[in-house]
Amino acid sequence: MKNFFKGVRRHIGRLDAGQLREQYNRMADEAEFFDLILSTIDRGILVLDDRGGVKFENAAVKALTGMDGAQAVEALALPLGKASRREMSVTYPETKFLEVQTFPMKDGTLVQIRDTTAERQRSEEEMRVGATQAVRDLAAGVAHEIGNPLNAIALNLQILQRQLKGDETVAECLHQVSRLDGIIRGFLSALRPSKPNLVAGSVAEPLAACLKTLKQQFEDRRISVTLDVPGVLPGVAIDKAQMEQVFFNLLKNSLEAMKDGGKIEITVDSDDSDVAVTVRDSGDGMTKEQLAHLFEPYRTTKSGGTGLGLMVTSRIVRDHGGTIAAESAQGEGTTFTVKLPRIEKRIRELK
Ligand code: ADP
Ligand code: MG
Repeated sequence: MKNFFKGVRRHIGRLDAGQLREQYNRMADEAEFFDLILSTIDRGILVLDDRGGVKFENAAVKALTGMDGAQAVEALALPLGKASRREMSVTYPETKFLEVQTFPMKDGTLVQIRDTTAERQRSEEEMRVGATQAVRDLAAGVAHEIGNPLNAIALNLQILQRQLKGDETVAECLHQVSRLDGIIRGFLSALRPSKPNLVAGSVAEPLAACLKTLKQQFEDRRISVTLDVPGVLPGVAIDKAQMEQVFFNLLKNSLEAMKDGGKIEITVDSDDSDVAVTVRDSGDGMTKEQLAHLFEPYRTTKSGGTGLGLMVTSRIVRDHGGTIAAESAQGEGTTFTVKLPRIEKRIRELK
């Protein structure tokens, strides 16, 4: 291109009218070609003469600033004939961050305008994530440090309890300490998730273990529990301890949603791709608003609750490649469904 113009310039005195027309047409084509390129790029390009008059502007100038070239020159108070760079925000046509650069050129200034909104948002998001991570580490550290003295207190209380046989004050202290311990454990598993150690197995096993742990509490509250597991069940890859935690959290919530007596139905089912465990209770149910924020941390309606149970539960299920869903209406009970991919499917997906 450059060479072409140089050539034309050098020989222009010797060209006849026909040749001149030909070269002129060629230049017009070239100009159109560059115009097309400049009109399609998303960077705003402005060429100003030495007094700031607009010699050229592409479509992006208006798209980015909401102004035409002349208005933009005035509004942005661009330095003429100098190199400069600055960041600014505009609120029209929408809120955006722009980077405006000027470059001196022969008899004028070249201006480039670039949209940096996405870049900025990304770095702000990175900062936010970083900050939460720092807060999390701190909280996990504190929770961990509380764990040791708490254990010592529990041990000593147990000794006291033996010495003072059946003292109610000591019993109450022990009860509160074990509650605190539960809360801290919950915190730690929420803050420091450990990746599941997946082993081929069946959901029936952790379910059974969990029901055994909660048996007494079900009886105390006169809650009937039914478990319906088909004789042949496809295998799933599970971390048994973590899955037990999942079912424990779900069943504990069901239990807590029933004041006096009730029913919990657990069914296990499978289709071509998943094994599904459904826990249906006849408890108080939830409002739409509660349902909408169900898996978020610290959302609890219980005076002694942490609001961490379902967050941990959903995370474990997700780490198993599964899904968890809830259905509920106030006064009508609640149904949770946990779906885990069958082993064959998971292998297929990982391939
Ligand atoms: P927590 O049990 O400590 O409150 P969870 O994360 O386990 O925390 O549960 C969060 C909230 O979801 C509960 O406080 C309760 O309002 C609601 N919830 C969960 N499961 C049920 C259920 N089976 N029936 C009614 N409400 C439930
Ligand atoms: Mg809970």
